[in-house]
Amino acid sequence: MGLFALDYDSASGPQRALFTQFEVGDARRMVPCWDEPARKATFTVTVLAPAAQLVVSNMPAAQTEIAADGRQRVRFQTTPKMSSYLLFLALGDFERVHRQVGPVDVGVVVKRGGATQAGFALDAAAQLLPYYNEYFGMPYPLPKLDLVAAPGTSLLTAAMENWGAILFFEKVVLLDPRISTEGDRRSVYIDVAHELAHQWFGDLVTMAWWDDLWLNEGFAAWMETRSTDHFHPEWKVWAKAMGATQQAMRLDAAVGTHPVVAPIADVLEANEAFDDITYEKGAAVVRMLESHAGVAKFRDGVRRYLRAYAYGNSVSDDLWRAIEGPGARTLAGIAHEFTLQEGVPLVRVSNRGCHAGRELLSLSQARFALDESGRHGAQRWHVPLALRSVAGGVAREVIVAGARPQPVSMPGCGPVVANAGQSSYLRAQYLGSAFAAMADHFRQLEVADQLGLLHDTAALAFAGRMPLSDFLTLAGRLPIDADPLVWRAAIDRLVVLDYAYEGLPTQSGFRDYARRLLAPLLARLGWEPATGEEGNVALERRELLSALGRFADPAVLAAARQRFAAYRQDPNALGPALRGSMLDVMAGNADAVEWEQLRSLAQAAPTALEKQELYRRLGQARDPVLAQRALDLALSGEVPETSRSQILAAVAAEHPDLTVKFLTAHWAAVEPVIEAPARAQFVANAAASGNDPAIIAVLEAHAARFPPASAGAALRRNSARVRYNAQLRARLAEIDRWIAPQS
Ligand SMILES: [Zn+2]
Repeated sequence: MGLFALDYDSASGPQRALFTQFEVGDARRMVPCWDEPARKATFTVTVLAPAAQLVVSNMPAAQTEIAADGRQRVRFQTTPKMSSYLLFLALGDFERVHRQVGPVDVGVVVKRGGATQAGFALDAAAQLLPYYNEYFGMPYPLPKLDLVAAPGTSLLTAAMENWGAILFFEKVVLLDPRISTEGDRRSVYIDVAHELAHQWFGDLVTMAWWDDLWLNEGFAAWMETRSTDHFHPEWKVWAKAMGATQQAMRLDAAVGTHPVVAPIADVLEANEAFDDITYEKGAAVVRMLESHAGVAKFRDGVRRYLRAYAYGNSVSDDLWRAIEGPGARTLAGIAHEFTLQEGVPLVRVSNRGCHAGRELLSLSQARFALDESGRHGAQRWHVPLALRSVAGGVAREVIVAGARPQPVSMPGCGPVVANAGQSSYLRAQYLGSAFAAMADHFRQLEVADQLGLLHDTAALAFAGRMPLSDFLTLAGRLPIDADPLVWRAAIDRLVVLDYAYEGLPTQSGFRDYARRLLAPLLARLGWEPATGEEGNVALERRELLSALGRFADPAVLAAARQRFAAYRQDPNALGPALRGSMLDVMAGNADAVEWEQLRSLAQAAPTALEKQELYRRLGQARDPVLAQRALDLALSGEVPETSRSQILAAVAAEHPDLTVKFLTAHWAAVEPVIEAPARAQFVANAAASGNDPAIIAVLEAHAARFPPASAGAALRRNSARVRYNAQLRARLAEIDRWIAPQS
């Protein structure tokens, strides 16, 4: 918080670097100021620093002189008018790689010796900057733009969009050719795209107060996908973004949810607002509004909005007005319903047959909820819904609102996709014969719509609104050559079911079923990447192997152990892709000897990135004895400082109840290991994957003893999650009955 130090080892001995992190209200820890986003000011920063260090701030240095005591005095150019939370300063034993992009000097600042890991991020920034200049209709206004890589990692922050000097933790911006995977490369690109979008949306124009935080984050989370898709259509990032929307929907369908625009009273509450509702529901709503308004009209509105509020502040309605023009109300009306009220709309589709060459449907709208959060009575959204007949033909948009069935007809006969292209924020439920028809035609659906059907069916089935067997039927129909993103989504849901089965005698039957379902996919993909293979296939293989490792597939375990032995002999024996998959399987299934071998690898790892990655994996063991050992290790002095909380969080994912009890019993020792702003939520978050409601009393007792008021939201949210997990666990006999005749 504020100005902080990160210590690390280097070839020339221990080093300390300094950085700042001011969002939301910590600039006042360093500079006396009125520390609110609407109080914009210009800043002239002068730093007295050791002469050998590199000092970085928002602007380029204007003047550097040697002071009488041998230190350097660096005065930076005065910033444009901006909010205090975007002010930045870093100093350390750094080097900077850079490139001129038009009038802008674009650079990456790294620890000395790390420049070779920075090339990909520099290329990404240089490629994206002109795209944004064009989209926003306003060139990037500062003379330089730095991506600053900080050693270590954080529970809360991946990156921070300080104007002209974006802070990233190393894992998010650097690539190590020895260990970085295809997934890592894409994450770097997307995170750079996100932070660059903020240079306009957030930095140039800033929300007036934190209740409109979503305008920053939802917009940037949407824009990262739009710009990445422009340069890398083969990554299919729109379809991938649907996975993030699912996370938001899971929060938004349960107790503890909140509207996208939520009243924020103070700084502690503002810290709580950085969640999937703000980012991912926000992004989904922006996408829906863009689709409803039209791409060009939306972009022109964004340009008008930026021109009108540059170097100033705005509220959400200013953006709607700029897009829609004065007087018009449709877009603003939809935006209000999706941002000012919480919850996920449910659109029900029933099939009423085909008459005179037209398919007749009936549509109605309700609320989708996993628990009592939805029982407020009728809730109404005007939902923009694209319809497309599976047989082909153009999509058309209708607006669905309210519970009264709304008749619609489409040209041609046969099933009709609701939310075609999946650009609206909703769950679609196909009733009766409409569901069977969609399942029968799965192969003919576009990838996004296959994903939509799979996600919605899983969500409705897990919530008890459809039989669980409907989800299994659909999973059983997936073509072996379905898009990698579709298989990844299905595998992800199978893993969730496996969590629900944890410790039950019927778990082995479920795992048998899951292995049989996935065996043909393993036969097709294997361990080794094919030459010229699509990057999404590499990600699919990784997910598949890791799931089969969880399901204790003997062949996968044997192959992983063989590769692990080779890797211990020679770390260069495996490329990053194989290495990642092998470590996924080994970390989860490790026995005591293998766990110690992993630990030795972590101790000896040559780079900070690799050390951090291996230490985190020690927390992934499914053996409870090793999990306990990992918890103890996290509090020992052996582990690099910022990796300690990462280990605790990793153990929590596999052993939630064990971790919660450990954290609460050792809170005095745990507290300093957790970054201050994350402390209020950490214990409650550790419970999230649990399914025994008895743990809720432990969370409540802890919250009562250590009561930052802001812990309440995390407690409500995670208690709801545990109760929902318990409900799902109670219904698993449905799956057992469905599996039995098939085995
Ligand atoms: Zn952001």
